[in-house]
Amino acid sequence: MKKFDYNTLFVPTYKREGAPVVKGKGVYLYDSDNTAFLDFGSGIAVNALGHSSPQLLKALREQGEKVLHTSNLYFSKPQIDLARQLLKSSFGDRIFFCNSGTEANEAAIKFARKKAKQVSPDKFHVLSFYDGFHGRTYGALSATAQGKFHSGFEPMLQGFHYAKLNDISGCKKLLKAHPFAAIIVEPLQGEGGIISATTEFLQFLRDFSDKNAITLIFDEIQCGMGRTGTLWNYQQHGVIPDIMTLAKPVGGGLPLGVVICKESVAEAIHPGDHGTTFGGNPLACALGTEVLKAVGKKKFLKDVTLNGEYLKRKLSELQTKYPVITAVRGSGLLLGVEFKEDPQGVIALCKDKKLLLVKAGHNTIRFMPPLIVTRKEIDKALGIFEKALKAHI
Ligand code: PLP
Repeated sequence: MKKFDYNTLFVPTYKREGAPVVKGKGVYLYDSDNTAFLDFGSGIAVNALGHSSPQLLKALREQGEKVLHTSNLYFSKPQIDLARQLLKSSFGDRIFFCNSGTEANEAAIKFARKKAKQVSPDKFHVLSFYDGFHGRTYGALSATAQGKFHSGFEPMLQGFHYAKLNDISGCKKLLKAHPFAAIIVEPLQGEGGIISATTEFLQFLRDFSDKNAITLIFDEIQCGMGRTGTLWNYQQHGVIPDIMTLAKPVGGGLPLGVVICKESVAEAIHPGDHGTTFGGNPLACALGTEVLKAVGKKKFLKDVTLNGEYLKRKLSELQTKYPVITAVRGSGLLLGVEFKEDPQGVIALCKDKKLLLVKAGHNTIRFMPPLIVTRKEIDKALGIFEKALKAHI
């Protein structure tokens, strides 16, 4: 009997195939044929504690029995708890909760523009960087300097400008050409191909922003929350932003976005300026507190660092064996393997062999397993990856 094509049900925004996923446990996902897949994509850097984490399920049950939704007309206990913990663990003074990464960046851009308007009505320009990714709604999309995401959806919003990451002189020229409200940067670009900003570059952005009353926004939606071996990626550079945006792992698999900001940003915002019905949902926040509790532990972060170094070393060994690999880069458990050509064929071969990997940029495969991954699981994934490389060449 011909299998039903589920694609006919959906607006074709994704290219999907295969049996639907029905459950997950630890580092494994299972489809409706009960085939187990080693998940080295973590739902695009979301499932930090793996699938069906007992700690998260317990919090989910306990909070679920209390209250599922309150709106933001009232305080909720899970929001307060998570806000306190996030502020304690970062540079921030104030929090805004929303539902996703793109919403967090929308809020960040709006906050920065509101603050800048106090200086001058023309101070609304936003600088971002080629190959960065900030989301799909119009503000975040306008800040995403990749033509392929804009194509067909133009015009983008007014006042968005793009520079090359790590190019201080080019960036300086552009920054002097307009009155900027904000600079938004991923300290480690994820979707763009696992490309790190240099400390020197981030420090330049910090200094320029300080001198010119510009709000510096770090998008740590993919690289934050333990993914690179420190709780926040900015800690590896010693450069502190005015705003940091978070999402992906923060809600333990439930939709949650976060804007963490300094008081100097928050003081420009007044009741009614911005809002959301669902943002900071009690269930998502209850899980968020558990994720932060687990990931924030020294031993947990040390394991991410050591496992990341191990995986990176092994991938670099594969690079010397297989010239089709041109680079291995990244930090912690956010690693990229760059290929001479489009690696989609290698990703498909890995999936056939029950390893899930995700592409980044044009020619890079991302390795971003759940942060609880073990050496044994890393070795298993490496074995499958090498088999796929052999079959590919
Ligand atoms: N910012 C970064 C760095 C991301 O990687 C993503 C998603 O991949 C986003 C923003 C958008 O997040 P969301 O898909 O939750 O809107």
